[in-house]
Amino acid sequence: MERLRGREQILVRPGEGFPLLLLTYPKGSAAAAQEIHSILGRRLPRLPQRLLEPYRRVLAALPAMVVVVLRPRNACGCLGHFHPRGTESRLARRLASDLGSYVGEVDLAWEEIREWQPHPISALAAGDLGERLDALHFEAALLAVFLHELEHVAFPDRGERDIRSASNTFYLNLMHQLVAAEGGSGYGMDLSPPA
Ligand SMILES: [Zn+2]
Ligand SMILES: [Zn+2]
Repeated sequence: MERLRGREQILVRPGEGFPLLLLTYPKGSAAAAQEIHSILGRRLPRLPQRLLEPYRRVLAALPAMVVVVLRPRNACGCLGHFHPRGTESRLARRLASDLGSYVGEVDLAWEEIREWQPHPISALAAGDLGERLDALHFEAALLAVFLHELEHVAFPDRGERDIRSASNTFYLNLMHQLVAAEGGSGYGMDLSPPA
């Protein structure tokens, strides 16, 4: 069970078509929480339609509010989890009872996500983006893992394989788009399926 002591919350409103998000993060991690706030609250709703298209049904099937438990790392090393009904934190259960409706919950481990290497670095043709590339990777990876977990919330019976394949494709497409927008020459031109 998630302990609430020593955590802070931010409410994020990505806007129409998205659930309200309640980010909860450990005290002392305000900088990471703000970065994630800006990716989920501002970048996500402004993504090109064609990138979000595969997630339209997922977004439409979500509850009105989702709690996002942020940690630097998970003990198991996972990038994130979906918390099935009945395993949510006290925070999510309290909100659900106040709202009188289901509140979804996922967790994201931001340092694991930062270090995730979904695709060999040799597939990069990102020019001189340098450190900027790390920021783009973090943005794309965070959104991919987040949408992955949201798909579990929306469709708890859907298989991991299909969900994983959709989120890997999303990651590659978004990386390609972000790198191109920064003037790099492309990313993942060799689209062999990630392991
Ligand atoms: Zn795990
Ligand atoms: Zn999964």
